[in-house]
Amino acid sequence: MNFVFGVAMQSRAIVSSFRTGEKLIPKEVVHGVGYIFGLSHCKNYCVMQFSNSVMEAIAKPDILCEKCEKNLQCIKTFFNYATIYVKCQMRLK
Ligand SMILES: [Zn+2]
Ligand SMILES: [Zn+2]
Repeated sequence: MNFVFGVAMQSRAIVSSFRTGEKLIPKEVVHGVGYIFGLSHCKNYCVMQFSNSVMEAIAKPDILCEKCEKNLQCIKTFFNYATIYVKCQMRLK
């Protein structure tokens, strides 16, 4: 069975915290934003790895691999902002 952690459509990303828990939100946000900017699932040690379970989502890194990073060089800053934003939001709670 596939778990859907985050679904990205056009310019919107919906990230579910129901299954993944709050610790995984930054990863899933970056993953979702990756879709928006045209990345697909990646087989490297990479945030764009497909996660089929909560365990896999926890195990994957919260960074992009070299290949994906090259694809996203120009919008890398945006990814950092997205991650920082979510981390701040979580701290404020
Ligand atoms: Zn995915
Ligand atoms: Zn990658």
